[in-house]
Amino acid sequence: MTISHTTTDEPIHRRGLMLVLSSPSGAGKSSISRRLLESDNNLSLSISATSRKRRPGEVEGKDYHFVTPEDFQIMIHENRFLEYAKVFDHYYGTPAEQVMETLGRGSDILFDIDWQGTQSLKATARDDLVSVFILPPSYRELEIRLKKRNQDTDQEVAKRMSKAADELSHFPEYDYIVINHDLEESVKQIHAILMAERRRRYRLNGLTDFVRNLQAGY
Ligand code: 5GP
Repeated sequence: MTISHTTTDEPIHRRGLMLVLSSPSGAGKSSISRRLLESDNNLSLSISATSRKRRPGEVEGKDYHFVTPEDFQIMIHENRFLEYAKVFDHYYGTPAEQVMETLGRGSDILFDIDWQGTQSLKATARDDLVSVFILPPSYRELEIRLKKRNQDTDQEVAKRMSKAADELSHFPEYDYIVINHDLEESVKQIHAILMAERRRRYRLNGLTDFVRNLQAGY
């Protein structure tokens, strides 16, 4: 099912929202993100910049903008990030320009970022932010999913597992919690969150004039 968003609300213009998904690595966040993007035509992905090396199968401009550590530092100094953080020895950041333009035209953006990034975005854009924390159904399941990926070295898997407990502790900082027992069910739950958040009064520009006109009999 594709959710479409037509202009039945005219002349009310909705400001876009920033949907943040975070989870420990391996909780299923990437699959959920993919399904959300496929099924909702008003949602696009924020492409982060990173100084880490490209993994096999990753595509420049689609998964990340891969930049050198030196170029990343230049971007920091030019204030081109809404937020950035160092995760697992590498830098990751959200380029500001694309995000602001997208929100302004009423489209929503999905962020696949960690708790550090979420906290930074909260500090700069609280009203635009809707944050969802995805939990794995069990620790065992998390371990299985991480090993299945086969993209990382054993050493890296072990590092991520040891990080999981720490990452899990950040759940209270999020607006919503989804426990990923089943991919389709999780996607459904996040769609429901999106639908409700899109109706927030403060996202609807022109509402006062619209109601005034109703009151005046237009
Ligand atoms: P990975 O190397 O597995 O793609 O990502 C490692 C971690 O970096 C993940 O937890 C991911 O959510 C986080 N990350 C990816 N992009 C960004 C970003 O733009 N900002 C921040 N703060 N974290 C990010």
